[in-house]
Amino acid sequence: MNILLIGIQGCGKGTQAKILEEKFGWKHITTGNLLRESIENQTELGLAAKKFMDEGELVPDKYVFQIVEDALTNAKDGTILDGFPRNMEQLKYLEKNFTIDKVVLLELSDEKALERVSSRRNCVDCKKDYNLLYNKPKVEGICDVCGGKIVQRDDDHEEAIKKRIEKFYEDTAEVISYFSEQGKLIRVNADAPINKIQDNIVKALEVSDLKK
Ligand code: AMP
Repeated sequence: MNILLIGIQGCGKGTQAKILEEKFGWKHITTGNLLRESIENQTELGLAAKKFMDEGELVPDKYVFQIVEDALTNAKDGTILDGFPRNMEQLKYLEKNFTIDKVVLLELSDEKALERVSSRRNCVDCKKDYNLLYNKPKVEGICDVCGGKIVQRDDDHEEAIKKRIEKFYEDTAEVISYFSEQGKLIRVNADAPINKIQDNIVKALEVSDLKK
């Protein structure tokens, strides 16, 4: 089964995808992380994408297609897509050679999203995620796992977060309607504890029998 996780910034897509990946051995493909890796590696594509990302704009499709091409070509059954497709052009590109079976929409209010995203931090070295609201590191600014420095993403400032939320309603709403018309859409309340959200996703996907 291939699934797509969709929702506004801060709805917990990445967190839920990681748990699903561990539980079912599925592969998590996230365009946000692929783009951030390109920036870290200072590739031409990464440098071109950074300015769009820092402002909360969508990266132009031509770059996004380059970055997902390899990942999708090697994708096997059991893929979790996160952050792609975000508009109708990307959806068309995806559907040419990939089938999404179910789409999980994690629903969260704009206010909650803004609050969560502005409190989010991660480790520069091992990338572990933290949130100052409910998942703080034991020592301020230092990663519990590897001792690395904990930082805020360049695009997690208020202006860029608001822009990303706006873009979500502008561009991604159409993608959601498309999957809803196909009967593939599952709505899950994302304003709940992580485990509760996970249970609801697993129940809705009807995959609990696959649990290790
Ligand atoms: P995310 O980690 O999903 O919040 O993505 C961070 C940023 O990466 C977004 O605000 C966009 O600038 C860019 N990005 C990620 N995925 C896509 C995509 N599918 N299309 C365009 N831009 C993307």
